[in-house]
Amino acid sequence: MKEAGKVLKPGSTVGILGGGQLGRMITLSGAAMGYRFITLDPAPDSPCGQVANQITAAYDDMGAARRLAEQCDVITYEFENVDAGVAEMLERESYVPQGSKLLYTTQHRIREKKAIEAAGVPVAPYREVTSQESMEAAVKELGLPCVLKTATGGYDGKGQRVIRSQAEVNAAYADLAGAELVLEGFVNFRCEISVIAARSTQGEIRTFPPAENIHVNNILHTSIVPARIPAGVAEQAQHLAAAIAESLDAVGLLAVEMFVTENGELYVNELAPRPHNSGHYTMDACVTSQFEQHLRAVCGLPLGDTRLLTPVVMVNLLGEHLEQAVARTVQPDPDAEHLNVIPKLHIYGKSEAKTGRKMGHINLLCDDVENGLKWIEQTKIWRNHQL
Ligand code: AMP
Repeated sequence: MKEAGKVLKPGSTVGILGGGQLGRMITLSGAAMGYRFITLDPAPDSPCGQVANQITAAYDDMGAARRLAEQCDVITYEFENVDAGVAEMLERESYVPQGSKLLYTTQHRIREKKAIEAAGVPVAPYREVTSQESMEAAVKELGLPCVLKTATGGYDGKGQRVIRSQAEVNAAYADLAGAELVLEGFVNFRCEISVIAARSTQGEIRTFPPAENIHVNNILHTSIVPARIPAGVAEQAQHLAAAIAESLDAVGLLAVEMFVTENGELYVNELAPRPHNSGHYTMDACVTSQFEQHLRAVCGLPLGDTRLLTPVVMVNLLGEHLEQAVARTVQPDPDAEHLNVIPKLHIYGKSEAKTGRKMGHINLLCDDVENGLKWIEQTKIWRNHQL
């Protein structure tokens, strides 16, 4: 039953669908405030299950989801592809303040774009593509280059093709045809940023300072805060993220990814209704972390202060970086000392350090973000990643 506005005090039990690193970090921050956590995940000893109680079952196991609901005062999720049947049952039989509407919107690029536009916020020009003919018409209208994306299921650059010449049009369409598709005009951006907004069950909204995001091989590599954009653009980005959270009636966190053009125009690319990798910097650099903020939002507490306490560079640790990063934690690099960077290590407890798998991150607290970036080069942990 949806009971908007319920206040769940510390001591309450929170259920988390999904046992990955985001659930783990929600748990670690919430446990400090006296909340209890139960996660549902198919993998025994999941990153979240190591720090919370765990029900080990498939995500679409109705019985297991029901058991979770029985033991929890509130349910949240840490990933987007929550099984629709489970989400619907939980909404009916337990308290899921985030609801399933936001998931429904953000699981589908075209629905998401329409919702962003309805909030009065710009997105890159786009056309729905339903056939070879509509593909050709869309390319004509939007011009080259352009980007073809599947409406569902794409992440980390999967399910999309950049089309640079007329000769590439048919191949790109053939590669992705069969799925629902959307063609986007190419935004010639100066940088990519993201803003994490939070909206509570009480309707309060706060946003964190924008992070400037650098991707390598389509995976987030580095988030730089403050973003190297004019103050007015940063303010506008926070304003737009808040407008989307309000318009979508969001509860909990909403990560808003945007392109910034040379002229300081902003176009929203994607939304994620959950804690976001680009918000991990808040754990050590803000008064309130995104994880605490998420919990405050779904529990109906007043939202925390989002002020940035220090410049910070967050850098992800993939499987191939983990060993060296741990070594550098035990024995800091003397040649990096002059940079006056304080590295704060976070590791997610995943069993296998596979190449390309997110294993942890480091928040580099610094006097100036350029020193954080120099620290990354100096320590050579990310040798294969050219910034
Ligand atoms: P996405 O899967 O939508 O997050 O896109 C992955 C990456 O592709 C983005 O982070 C951008 O670097 C790039 N990209 C996606 N869409 C566009 C676009 N319309 N114009 C320019 N670059 C894009």
